[in-house]
Amino acid sequence: MRVSVFGATGSIGESTFDLLARRDDIETVALTGGRNVERLAAQARTLRAQIVVTAHDACYAALKDALAGSGIEVAAGTQALIDAAERRADWVMSAIVGAAGLAPGFRALAQGATLALANKESLVTAGPLLMREAARHGARILPVDSEHSAVFQALVGEDAAAVERVIITASGGPFRDWTLAQLARATLAQAQTHPNWAMGQRITIDSATLFNKALEVIETREYFGFEPAQIEVVVHPQSIIHALVGFRDGALMAHLGPPDMRHAIGYALNWPDRADLPVARLDLAQLAELTFEAPDPVRFPALRLAREVMEMRGHAGAAFNAAKEVALDEFIAGRLRFLDMAQLVERTIDQLSTDSCLTDPVEALETVEAMDQMARECARAIASRVA
Ligand code: NDP
Repeated sequence: MRVSVFGATGSIGESTFDLLARRDDIETVALTGGRNVERLAAQARTLRAQIVVTAHDACYAALKDALAGSGIEVAAGTQALIDAAERRADWVMSAIVGAAGLAPGFRALAQGATLALANKESLVTAGPLLMREAARHGARILPVDSEHSAVFQALVGEDAAAVERVIITASGGPFRDWTLAQLARATLAQAQTHPNWAMGQRITIDSATLFNKALEVIETREYFGFEPAQIEVVVHPQSIIHALVGFRDGALMAHLGPPDMRHAIGYALNWPDRADLPVARLDLAQLAELTFEAPDPVRFPALRLAREVMEMRGHAGAAFNAAKEVALDEFIAGRLRFLDMAQLVERTIDQLSTDSCLTDPVEALETVEAMDQMARECARAIASRVA
């Protein structure tokens, strides 16, 4: 099987690498990364990749040096990422973080590849476009987000029309029990420490604000086509149940597993088969209890914002994600406080809602990218007034 991994040096990328390195039937086409060129080069040597690409021109020389004598092609920059996505592969992992992951995944679909989609931002910003592109080229998108993989697995052999509701779980993040006053003082170090999952910095902070879950609610709608009212979120601090599907006869099918992304990645890699995976097996007696609570919309407004965005449709998802990415950058840079992130996203959407482009149907990558830029500029302008 020919595979490519976009975002190979990240948390999902490393888990994917771990699974690929255990197999002897893999032909690696492209591996891409950002600044971590040493790691990218080491992965490329192990998997004997045809080409490696760093997203940053400034990292090209270091990557070239690290791969000297290997015979592996080296390239850099945004266009090089797209070119790598156009190389024929059977299975492509989309694990770049943020809206930057959209274009390479889109191009991979146009080649007919199976796209293992970790980059949730692709569906949030351009869901209808991505699904259409897959259908047009006979390509398949397989969800890698653990909640969506869980829903996907619970639906195997079921009639989608028999589904009444879908419940995706949220750990609640590190601030699940914090008061508003405590949240107002939450630091970057506290926000980037997840209680259960080891993930990249950005998604970890998005889990603390519940923006990650907000993106996932939109992702659920775009991928499976459920109505917003059918999609529920429940806080489940142990992160053992990833999602549940409720059927019209009242049955709930739950998917359980340890918090290890190699399960969802491995499922997508082996689909439609199941194969042995190096993940821990659950000991239910030792776990002893699984608990659930409703998310608090006052302390964590991200879920309410996601529902408003789903009502607007069109390019509202792209604006929402872009504003959220700017808010995150500002928080990481120490220019915005924790609670200000949701406020910045809400104010950006409010400001853009006077522009009809926000609700225009998503028909081309270019209009999605234009909305992304417009929302970033708007959010940055608002943030500069807040700081
Ligand atoms: P990381 O931050 O750990 O890794 C991101 C990857 O993308 C790295 O390879 C990084 O390169 C590369 N990258 C960063 N910026 C750019 C850019 N502008 N252009 C091209 N490449 C870039 O992220 P995660 O692995 O945590 O997450 C990846 C995606 O998967 C996200 O969309 C996330 O929401 C989703 N996801 C993650 C889960 C997890 O458990 N981590 C679970 C479910 C979904 P480098 O590091 O070399 O700079």
